[in-house]
Amino acid sequence: MNLELARAALKKYFGYDSFRPMQAEIIQTVFDRRDTVVLMPTGGGKSMCFQVPAIVLPGTALVVSPLIALMKDQVEGLRANGVPAAFINSSLDAGQTRQTEDALLAGQIKILYVSPEKLVSQGFQPLLKRLNISLFAIDEAHCISAWGHDFRPEYTQLKFIKEQFAQTPIIALTATADKLTRRDIAEQLGLREPEIFIASFDRPNISMNVRPGQKRFEQVVDFLKKHPDQSGIIYCLARKTCNDLAEKLNAKGFRAAAYHAEMPNSERSRVQEDFINDRTPVICATIAFGMGIDKSNVRFVIHYNLPRNLEGYYQEIGRAGRDGLASDALLFFSYADVQAYRDMIEQSESDATQKELRLAKLNRMYQFAEAPVCRRQTVLNYFGENYERHCGNCDVCRNPHRQFDGTVAVQKALSALIRCEEKVGMNLLIDVLRGSQRREIFEMGFNQIRTYGAGKEYSFEEWLYLLSQMLHLGLLEIAYDEHNHLKATAAGRAVLQEKKQVNLALPPAPEQKQTAKAAPAKTKTQTLREELFERLKSLRRQLAQQQGVPPYLIFSDATLDEMAEKRPYTDAEMLRTSGVGERKLQLYGDAFLVEIRKFILQKVEEGQHVTGSTQLVSWNLYQQGVSIDDIARRRDTSPITIMNHLATLYERGENFDLGRWVTPEEIDLIQGALPLFQEPYQLKDLHEHFRQRYNYDKIRWALADWRRRHSNALS
Ligand code: ADP
Ligand code: ZN
Repeated sequence: MNLELARAALKKYFGYDSFRPMQAEIIQTVFDRRDTVVLMPTGGGKSMCFQVPAIVLPGTALVVSPLIALMKDQVEGLRANGVPAAFINSSLDAGQTRQTEDALLAGQIKILYVSPEKLVSQGFQPLLKRLNISLFAIDEAHCISAWGHDFRPEYTQLKFIKEQFAQTPIIALTATADKLTRRDIAEQLGLREPEIFIASFDRPNISMNVRPGQKRFEQVVDFLKKHPDQSGIIYCLARKTCNDLAEKLNAKGFRAAAYHAEMPNSERSRVQEDFINDRTPVICATIAFGMGIDKSNVRFVIHYNLPRNLEGYYQEIGRAGRDGLASDALLFFSYADVQAYRDMIEQSESDATQKELRLAKLNRMYQFAEAPVCRRQTVLNYFGENYERHCGNCDVCRNPHRQFDGTVAVQKALSALIRCEEKVGMNLLIDVLRGSQRREIFEMGFNQIRTYGAGKEYSFEEWLYLLSQMLHLGLLEIAYDEHNHLKATAAGRAVLQEKKQVNLALPPAPEQKQTAKAAPAKTKTQTLREELFERLKSLRRQLAQQQGVPPYLIFSDATLDEMAEKRPYTDAEMLRTSGVGERKLQLYGDAFLVEIRKFILQKVEEGQHVTGSTQLVSWNLYQQGVSIDDIARRRDTSPITIMNHLATLYERGENFDLGRWVTPEEIDLIQGALPLFQEPYQLKDLHEHFRQRYNYDKIRWALADWRRRHSNALS
């Protein structure tokens, strides 16, 4: 089987021009009937690695997937692209199952999704034996690993596949990157010398940002104002936070809903549906949300509370921007969250090693948020990927922290701490340093110490920031068993006594001021593109509503954005848009083409200059029955120009009846002479060649017809 067929299928069904890194190699391996393990981040394009071979190879591909909700989405997505797909799981009734089985046996299904329970069940075996199976894809393959967080016991029974179908290739896919899981997958599935593909886990389109957690509600409101109507998830630690936050956001006029484990099932699926269908843009959720969601246009993920570990963090922000468009991840960091988690871990039932592991992971999370190092670099290195550049798309890269000689600050803090007899927590220490009028300070007599008010030059937030760094540097520690009071370490005392120099960083200046300065004025072209994008989005919403499918299943944001940029006029041009395959062109092409034309004509009427619109204006008048001469008069130009406009559109794929200008025989004759000349063909040469037997119009049309047939889009 060759890759050209795979490429053709990619274009025809999915509307994509080329494979992403590794996709082609993976598909080739499947064609070679070898087993593969694929590790790719969410949104990396794993599905294509089995869907394309499934379409090209004879027979049916079986896809094992643990998430029933996702299965339905994926099948709908495939069908919308004209790929015959189906699923069998416990959500189908007997009748539906029978129907699907019949279609399978009739060879009408290229891709079948099954739940692992179903696949291993006795009842399924007779059917399985009668199918011609092209490949097995095991999605979310990390579920097989007992070490992982998503362990599913049924997955361990999947070993039977290789035993029964020794010759059929298995492709196992996951977005979980660690070595242990990788080994488990290969071993437990009994794969034979699998080819292992590990893609980069970088998601360059996601902008990673960490902000101090003070006034986070205000910060969220600010963020949402800057991202109107965009879909996003705000992860919160507690159910109560979800509810409160959603309520407060609604009160501020944002459409937000809460989602958490305590809600009744029906309510939860309603919220999820509303999110998927772009009816509720913002969901305030516990981590239970997002796992079974394939929505490609999630534009932002906010962590209202610190995640427990970097694995969770990266998985969650990975739900943003699957369509490859710019997306935001925003994490609020507060020391209180770290302490809350620490308490939770300490008080949990797990054994000592488990606790230690969880605390260590929490620590890494905390360091990630704290360290003034490129975020992407930190995360990717944590996952074992050697990433040495500065990404340029995180808060640290965009807005470097202000390094300074922090020796004096450290001395002030430590001296105040020691004078408070190391019986204060972080907040109280800062209040002492800043000379606060807090009652406790007076009660405890801390207003009497020499360093009271000695640190007024830094704000409360800045002190928090500095003290956290001192913790990292081991100058301070927290006595968890003594009400979280701070203690000076030996290293800290050394700075105090020996005046050893310490470098610290101050947080970057508030981001708002920066962006206000940085954002350049929009060009007319940009404004036009954004306006058209909104128009296309609202058309998409309408169509989705009529057809009862999620908007992103019609076209992704990325596809609409490309349409808004390139403004296709014809089927051929539409087909060149990434994400428009043959089926979608058939189903939706006209609606979107009409909308684009309407938009352009409207803009022209409003007196705007729109590049490339002149042909369309002529064509529009011609369609209304205005003669070529009249159009020329109205537009203050020559009939030849108008004819040229129409011919250009014809070349680009517009459908015309040429009969009134030129006959098929004349076209043949004129085109027959083309080999005598060099491209680009000149009307004048042909006109003379035929000794003026054909007028310029006829020659122009014959040429247009030739170009139309010779442009690659239509061949
Ligand atoms: P994953 O399963 O790894 O999370 P998906 O298979 O859902 O990722 O792909 C993420 C997005 O990228 C989808 O919108 C998909 O259509 C798109 N995509 C996948 N492969 C390509 C490609 N070769 N060219 C353009 N877009 C692609
Ligand atoms: Zn960076």
